[in-house]
Amino acid sequence: MLQYFNKTKMTNRFFLLIGVFLLLTSCSTKKHLATHHFDREEAYPEFTEADSLIGTLSRYRSSFDVYYYDLDLEVDIENQFLDGEVAIHFTAVDDLDTIQIDLYENLAIDGIYYGADSLRHHRKHNAVFIEFDNTIRKGQDVVLEVRYSGHPVEAPRPPWYGGMVWEEDKDHNPWVGVACEGSGPSIWWPVKDHLSDEPDSVRLEVTIPEGLFCVSNGKLVNQTNGNNTTTFTWKTQYPINSYNVTLYLGNYEYFTIPYEAEDTIYDLDFYVLPRNLEKAKEHFRQTVDVIRFFEETFGEYPWWREGFKLVESPYRGMEHQTAIAYGDRYKNRKFLGFDHIIVHEAAHEWWGNAVSVSDFAEIWLHEGFATYSEALYVEHTKGYEAYLEYIERKTWRINDEKPVVGPHHVNYWDKTDNDPYNKGALILHTLRNAINSDTVFFDILKSFYSRHKYSIVSTEDFIAVVNEKTGDDYKWFFDHYLYKNVSPHLNWKYYFNEENFRYELLYRWEFTDDNFRLPVTIQRLNGKISRILPENQLKRVLGLTGKDIRINPDQSYIFLREDKDL
Ligand SMILES: [Zn+2]
Repeated sequence: MLQYFNKTKMTNRFFLLIGVFLLLTSCSTKKHLATHHFDREEAYPEFTEADSLIGTLSRYRSSFDVYYYDLDLEVDIENQFLDGEVAIHFTAVDDLDTIQIDLYENLAIDGIYYGADSLRHHRKHNAVFIEFDNTIRKGQDVVLEVRYSGHPVEAPRPPWYGGMVWEEDKDHNPWVGVACEGSGPSIWWPVKDHLSDEPDSVRLEVTIPEGLFCVSNGKLVNQTNGNNTTTFTWKTQYPINSYNVTLYLGNYEYFTIPYEAEDTIYDLDFYVLPRNLEKAKEHFRQTVDVIRFFEETFGEYPWWREGFKLVESPYRGMEHQTAIAYGDRYKNRKFLGFDHIIVHEAAHEWWGNAVSVSDFAEIWLHEGFATYSEALYVEHTKGYEAYLEYIERKTWRINDEKPVVGPHHVNYWDKTDNDPYNKGALILHTLRNAINSDTVFFDILKSFYSRHKYSIVSTEDFIAVVNEKTGDDYKWFFDHYLYKNVSPHLNWKYYFNEENFRYELLYRWEFTDDNFRLPVTIQRLNGKISRILPENQLKRVLGLTGKDIRINPDQSYIFLREDKDL
């Protein structure tokens, strides 16, 4: 998903930045000293029973493993109404009598069936507890049928605050979509709404008014006309995050762009509104280079059997697997020379869709990686200096109000805090500097991807690859950057030592644990580069020449504080 863009907040931050800059230049600042303390109680809202029901993997959810969802939906666009039947195919992981699935409470359940049996159920918030008449034994396969209907929640601000999107295009055709990362797919269909359980395949059959087209995940396997209706059947046979299951209904034009892979040519698929067709054909040509670059950098695109689709959407963007939403202006960013929405959302096919987390607490593994992918794409198209400039722009946006990794088991994701995006990207950039070998760093990214694609990961899995590939233990690094809400501060002083007629650099860390050992680059005026290893104790480099020095020119994510009192 794209970063949440809050105009007022950005404007305020701009003035705040100017203010901080003035403060920094007029006196030595104590700002970070005063604000680094993190109070967990204050930082997060009070979590409710409903948050725990959706966020926790209780025994009512861990006792079964869904391998297939079969959705059959009728979409009444005029009345913004859904009428559907979902077959949930699962295997019992334990003996079970009761299970929990999820469906927003504003949607009615019209019946739950196991074979010919109608099952009892009760609802608590958005959770639905279903009781079987007889114990289901471990290892048993079950097909549960849930019939439901109602007016699903309309997205207040898609894609960030999700739900259905009922729009009209400029030619007054209906244009419908759904975006529900965070709010959860149970906002529009009955599902085990927990990130830890990805089905291996999903079939989506959608009946809509005749004349409109439906795009969804995977491949279109059937299309039939009924009485003033058309029924589309799409199927994906890859593991998929249930929030990625989606549909786009509209008056679409279709075209393809060829993509030459090593030994075959794939067609990239594009679905756009007719009035944008010519623009899209030109604008989306950049997609070829984006995919090629990510394949070279991370590994093969994960879904070639079902292809790559970009679908014009009535909201700005979203990484719906094999059917990415694009709802922007067909314009490249001036500074970048490319469309960062295509780059960001395409990167999620690797980071987020193929490699997925089991709790939004760790969403930096999706968003930080996708944001860092943007920076890598800048480096690829414009070179390392432009990459550094892009990285620097991310630094301005850090909040440092909360740790990057949030509280687990409560489905928590604060969309107004972009640190999992920007700080997440800076963490990868800083890790690259700390490792100081691009060969090793990119091997880490490739290995993390190839080992964990089509599966669920945690931050620990990433750290394990980092440790293995570096032959070192980077716990100190992640402990600081992911679990503290203060950036490392390097206090330094560069001065002329009258006694030995040489310049000296004094330096030490602040706000870091004793084991924090990030190397920092220094660059002399003559261009000579060396690395220092600051500690919490004061250290010094003696006998330097030249009256100026650049500290951290490669912009590791640290704050520099010139400290006259050292
Ligand atoms: Zn994203």
